[in-house]
Amino acid sequence: MFQRARLMLTASYAAALALTLGGIGVASYVLIRDDLESEIDRSLRAAQEQLDSVDILPTPTAVPDPTPPGGDDREDHEDEEHHDDDDDAARLALLSSDVFYVAFAADGTVIANPRRVNLEGVDLARVAAEADGDELQRADGEHGHFRLAVSQLDDGSFLAVGRSLRLVEHQLETLRMVFLVGGVIGLVVSLGAGFGLAGRTLTPIRRALESQQQFVSDASHELRTPLTVARANNALLLDEPEATIESRLDQAEAVAAELDHLSVLVGDLTTLARADEGRANLLLEPLDLAALVDEVVRDMGALADVHGVSLVSEIAPARVRGDRARLRQLVVILVDNSLKYAAEHGTVRVALATDGRGAELSVTDDGPGIAPAEQKRIFERFYRVDSERTRSKGGTGLGLAIGKWITEAHGGRIAVESAPGRGTTFRVRLPLA
Ligand code: ADP
Repeated sequence: MFQRARLMLTASYAAALALTLGGIGVASYVLIRDDLESEIDRSLRAAQEQLDSVDILPTPTAVPDPTPPGGDDREDHEDEEHHDDDDDAARLALLSSDVFYVAFAADGTVIANPRRVNLEGVDLARVAAEADGDELQRADGEHGHFRLAVSQLDDGSFLAVGRSLRLVEHQLETLRMVFLVGGVIGLVVSLGAGFGLAGRTLTPIRRALESQQQFVSDASHELRTPLTVARANNALLLDEPEATIESRLDQAEAVAAELDHLSVLVGDLTTLARADEGRANLLLEPLDLAALVDEVVRDMGALADVHGVSLVSEIAPARVRGDRARLRQLVVILVDNSLKYAAEHGTVRVALATDGRGAELSVTDDGPGIAPAEQKRIFERFYRVDSERTRSKGGTGLGLAIGKWITEAHGGRIAVESAPGRGTTFRVRLPLA
């Protein structure tokens, strides 16, 4: 599925780039071509005006032999028998070297072609017929294409001032090649880069989806276990309907314990699902964190007694902006864990202190500690270091995941410091109000 999405994304990138490159290429090509053509047209008009300004009529001349194919269109003026050298020289002197002129009759017979331009294949009769004082013409011959500015002379013959299009065509050809090769290279590079980029874009989405799928499968597994245990115990109870509850207290208590576990689990799952959807709206208000921590410590005193652990605290005043219920839940999670894992007759210390930058809550126990490799994973959902032992302690494996979410939703950070056999400290840093 992700491979297909990656290919689709790559194709979309490439298509967008191809369209952009193509658009820019075509637009630049058309602009440059129009520019080159209008430069030719301007030079021809200027040449035509200059020739008009001198009153020298073309001298009849022999039709020059076409130059051999592949030869230059124009050749240096050479002396000819029927040619008026002075008049032609005077006209040519007015023109730049890339401009030529030809005089011809209405039937296309060449009267003068002093630059000896090879006009083979050019239909001069048609040029004469289409001559219009304003419009420039294009004429195609066997040895090249020409742009002509044609005017009719007083004696009925025609004078065409022209330029070969060979150079412009060559320039445009080069431009097309550059655009084509550049476009193909750009496209290939963008396909490669797009493929890499699509992979990078999709990786976090794939990971999120995988972790979501993992979460759903872990959740259903976690829900199934207490349900199975409760059903089995319930079945045992139903086997002997006449027995008293007192005589089957073990099974009755097991059913109740599994139902309790289920309701805690469902509560935790709901919290995380809301957090994932961004629906767990926090009611942020300035609050007395010291009073809140103190209250939790007092409330959990009875639980500490049940565990045979002494719960001590050292609380300095601290005010933060936070959601009272969520912060209470965070402190309960940490203290509850420490009470569960503290050494027999051990001590759990809760401390709240502030420095210039924030408030720091630490919960320390003298329990078994957590190995470094496990420390990275205990904040993951459903991760338990020793799943059977911790489940028997009533844990869902979601407490620290919820604690981490609550801390981060308040702009804080949570960290664990521990070593096997040397106890554990959880530290939560929160910004001050
Ligand atoms: P649980 O509901 O199982 O306690 P948590 O997310 O709160 O789940 O904790 C994840 C795991 O981290 C626990 O199963 C336990 O293995 C480990 N852990 C948490 N707190 C402590 C602690 N204070 N000392 C040792 N291990 C701990």
